[in-house]
Amino acid sequence: MTTPIPSLSFDAAWHDLDRKSATLWLLLFGCIPGVFLLAYLLNDLPLHGASFLIVAPLWMIAIAWAGSRMARFACPGCHKAFFETWYFCKPLRHNCAHCRLPRGSKQTPPAAPAENVSRDKPY
Ligand SMILES: [Zn+2]
Repeated sequence: MTTPIPSLSFDAAWHDLDRKSATLWLLLFGCIPGVFLLAYLLNDLPLHGASFLIVAPLWMIAIAWAGSRMARFACPGCHKAFFETWYFCKPLRHNCAHCRLPRGSKQTPPAAPAENVSRDKPY
């Protein structure tokens, strides 16, 4: 019995996903204090009163940017979008939407048993 060698590209991919996920959650949970803190700090600039109207949309754009980066993360096993199918995106998913590769796995899952399908038969 041989032990599969962990793929370095898998480790790099999961590390990249962890970084993207941390950025998204930081932006989401830091939204309220971050927007008010930045608006307060920018109030001394010549933008009196308008700083909140500038900071809040910029923060929302940053959340959308981070979310789209995470949603586009390619599964290291099948190289398709890990979190989304053509109709739905689940950012809290633990398995790949296409190949069911568990998040953080070091190797590709074993292939599913072949179905008993014959191309000669019409049914
Ligand atoms: Zn996959």
